[in-house]
Amino acid sequence: MSEFPYIRCLGCEEAIFDPTRAVCPGCGRCPVCGLRRVKPEIKDCPECELPYCTCCGRCPKCAGLRYAEIDSPCECGHPHNAEKLEDLIRYESVVGAESRPFDWGCIMVILALVTVILLILAALR
Ligand SMILES: [Zn+2]
Ligand SMILES: [Zn+2]
Ligand SMILES: [Zn+2]
Ligand SMILES: [Zn+2]
Repeated sequence: MSEFPYIRCLGCEEAIFDPTRAVCPGCGRCPVCGLRRVKPEIKDCPECELPYCTCCGRCPKCAGLRYAEIDSPCECGHPHNAEKLEDLIRYESVVGAESRPFDWGCIMVILALVTVILLILAALR
């Protein structure tokens, strides 16, 4: 396995890219928090005037990467936040990703809500 496995974007579910990039070359979203950091969207390579590949965001002629000029970190700290980057690589890598741990907090909230609704219904009867 390479030191930096490639990840699949959660936003467009198409682009596969290096997780140390600030934005997805496919949709321009931050791979950690999903914030869309590009506006307006760039469709063609300004040098070659050719459309970027829709899957990997590379220009077919010069292989320039779309949104390569965005290298400032996102509001969430990506890609300078080592912990989030590690998480991203662990759970979203294209090869050998682990499934995310089960979110018990979320389940408890749903169960509590269901209980409250049932209690209200029972009281109304
Ligand atoms: Zn994307
Ligand atoms: Zn972010
Ligand atoms: Zn491609
Ligand atoms: Zn080009």
